[in-house]
Amino acid sequence: MFANLSDKLVSVIKKIGGRGILTEGIVNSAIEEIRISLLDADVALPVVKDFVAKLKEKLAGRKVLNSIAPEQTVLRALYDELVVFLGYSDNDSNFRRGKILMLGLQGTGKTTTSAKLANFFKNKFNRKVLLVSLDTYRPAAIEQLRVLARNNSIDFFEDFLPGDTPVDIARKSLSAQDKYDITIYDTAGRLHIDESMMDEVISLKQCIQPNELLLVVDGMMGQDAVNMAKSFNDATKLTGLVFTRMDGDSKGGAVLSAKYMANCQIKYICTGEKISDIEEFNPKRIASRILDQGDMRGLIEKSRSLDQASLQKTIDNKFDLESMEAYLVQLTKIGGLHGMMKLMPGMNKLKSQLERPAFSEKIPLRALAIIRAMTKEERRNPQILNASRRRRIAKGCAQEVVDVNRLIKDFEMLKRVMSKKLAGKKVRAMDLMRR
Ligand code: GDP
Repeated sequence: MFANLSDKLVSVIKKIGGRGILTEGIVNSAIEEIRISLLDADVALPVVKDFVAKLKEKLAGRKVLNSIAPEQTVLRALYDELVVFLGYSDNDSNFRRGKILMLGLQGTGKTTTSAKLANFFKNKFNRKVLLVSLDTYRPAAIEQLRVLARNNSIDFFEDFLPGDTPVDIARKSLSAQDKYDITIYDTAGRLHIDESMMDEVISLKQCIQPNELLLVVDGMMGQDAVNMAKSFNDATKLTGLVFTRMDGDSKGGAVLSAKYMANCQIKYICTGEKISDIEEFNPKRIASRILDQGDMRGLIEKSRSLDQASLQKTIDNKFDLESMEAYLVQLTKIGGLHGMMKLMPGMNKLKSQLERPAFSEKIPLRALAIIRAMTKEERRNPQILNASRRRRIAKGCAQEVVDVNRLIKDFEMLKRVMSKKLAGKKVRAMDLMRR
């Protein structure tokens, strides 16, 4: 699920990370690549159009172009949009008690999903669950649910007679409710949506008064699954969707389109035939998975600790262009070079020496672009930066050779200042950060 889309979006972000300075052109071509990736993943056209428009809006303007870590800015915007389109809402509260009516066409995995859900509530939340089969048209379906219930130690409602209609069974089951936290009703599927099916659903809904009306759709059906969800939702006012067969090679576009196109939230996804192959649908987790980020909060924390580590390295070891890059990144976070100087013991007096145009507020971005156009070897051994290397670097970051020369001069001056002040005075990076 999402493997292709994920690969493509991650490569767009990586490409941005390789550029020092973002230009409007780079942002626009990234957005275009994102648009094509979504279309390739079979996301519905209106969803793609709106998604791209919202992303453009977010990434427009100076804030992004001036950002210190452009790939993080684009990644964050993309993540936020994915979460919205996957249907995140602050008001979502997970269902833990009451009645669930399961709907769906034949063969979508409705009976299996009913049992999976029952097992999920029983094991994960220690709920007492009753399974009820209302598929009186197919005795085999009743037997299928009975066996699944028995094999997983879940109660199955047996108190009905041959000839009872689905509504009869539903009515009888209501008196057993008090003994259970959750009752799950599996209904009869049809080959396609028809009037008699909808009439039955409406009668069952009236009788049961379910807290959840879940439609099971086959994720392998792509946009047809979304169209199906829309028809059902229009007719019955669903409370949620379950996507099955997400272990197959579906491209994931239907999952990204469902909320927007069918105006219905995906609540669960099933990823296999086993009873445990079900998970709650969490837009934030799915968006992180699509962007291959694990957990975004963890990522942000990690990047913070990386900054501290690089600062420590700088102070503990020699000052080279890699250290300068780390400092420049810190600069924007702590209020420019002067802000940094304030943090460093004994540096305050040297402020005037550093009040050169090269260190003005906008410079860190240009300086970063220049440093990032260098090879690792050049950053670690700036003395090898001869004229031809400087020309190559200038070309690589779309700046002039004089800019590269100026950066190297400033680096040399900063290095002199640093080594004088730090000699014999080992300052721990953590202490610097705390002051
Ligand atoms: P129903 O007719 O809608 O009740 O469908 P069933 O529950 O009988 O499922 C039909 C088939 O799909 C069964 O063989 C299930 O094991 C299979 N199935 C259900 N959910 C999944 C899933 O998430 N992944 C895979 N691979 N198979 C599934």
